Amino acid sequence: MEVNFLGGASEVGRLGMLLRHQGATLLFDYGIQPLDPPKYPLEAPPVDSFFLTHSHLDHCGMVPVISRKSETDLLSTPVTFDVANILLEDSIKVSKAEGFPQPFTKQDIRTMNRDLVSVEYGDSQDIGGFEVEVHSAGHIPGSSMFEMVGHQTVLFTGDLHTINTQLVWGAHPVKCDVLVIESTYAGRNHPDRLSTEDAFLGKVQEVVERGGVALVPCFAVARTQELLMVLSRTDHEVWLDGMGRDVSQVYLRHPSYLRSLKKLKNALRRSRVVRSYHGREKALLGDVIVTTGGMLDGGPVLFYLDRLKEDPRNAVILTGFQVDGTNGRSLLDEGVIDLYGVRTRIGCEVDSYDFSAHAGHDDLVKFVEGCDPSKVILMHGDARERLAEALEGRECLLPKEGQWYSI
Ligand SMILES: [Zn+2]
Repeated sequence: MEVNFLGGASEVGRLGMLLRHQGATLLFDYGIQPLDPPKYPLEAPPVDSFFLTHSHLDHCGMVPVISRKSETDLLSTPVTFDVANILLEDSIKVSKAEGFPQPFTKQDIRTMNRDLVSVEYGDSQDIGGFEVEVHSAGHIPGSSMFEMVGHQTVLFTGDLHTINTQLVWGAHPVKCDVLVIESTYAGRNHPDRLSTEDAFLGKVQEVVERGGVALVPCFAVARTQELLMVLSRTDHEVWLDGMGRDVSQVYLRHPSYLRSLKKLKNALRRSRVVRSYHGREKALLGDVIVTTGGMLDGGPVLFYLDRLKEDPRNAVILTGFQVDGTNGRSLLDEGVIDLYGVRTRIGCEVDSYDFSAHAGHDDLVKFVEGCDPSKVILMHGDARERLAEALEGRECLLPKEGQWYSI
């Protein structure tokens, strides 16, 4: 058995892992790094089957390229594909607007949809000499880990979270021989989740009491819904704008992937949805605006930021990791952003809360111990050595991109 990473081994983003077994070539995830301009993984060879762990662009952003090359079964949960479709359509629009080359067309997305094979948690089927079982990865609704049972059992985690969040239950370890595990937060831990929720709500309360508006930029997929659920514990007037609206509707159609359909429904019912320019003006008179994009690089958030930036009573409350080179990072580090091509100072308060959907360092170590593998392959991280050190005594592989490794 051999593995080869086409991307996303030594960095977070553009993940793709080939697994060769008994003459079959399988591919796990195939994503882009949605930067400006985007970065792509190495070219994939024709594959027998493709497994998609979840619908974030760094995992699903290149899937239409696979089905364009050959008729390949694409396996994932139905909610993952429904959300991936929204993101892939949007990525074509973004490429056109920004003038990036686009590796696939709308026709390729239609072809992709022809090749989809839906799987559910607990399902098991024979593929490539393995009996493949699907487990929840606890990262976002529909996110999956693939357990490949053969002479050796391999577990591919994709992105992983082990604590319970408002939106999904945490993942549980699965006994295996070879564990391929993400390492995004190697060397770093998260603060306690419930304390973070309380601190976030405390800040929102403070902003509203002083007569300001709390602008909460969020990723459309899962973070928006998570934050609406947290905010539903308050009486604030909450407005929702951006792609998170469409993703919320998809989640409502797939209740079995949610921790509580009732609570998500309630949170969405309590928020007011922006559907027009007039709606945006009304949202500015409310208390809280939850909107895309999460790193301030595009989407309706720029409109709101432009209108709210001067008044110190207002606050921008970031809720996700801000990657180097994004507006969100430059706001945190220097207090300025690129607003429609103009370097602009943001005068209102800026705050940040850790609502990560990835397991922290200690959670990762605990998860590995629970799986008890004889070999650990660390991927999807830029500080993997930190995790390897903590796993001393276990055989750890830190693969480079573009090389085959026997496992
Ligand atoms: Zn993810």
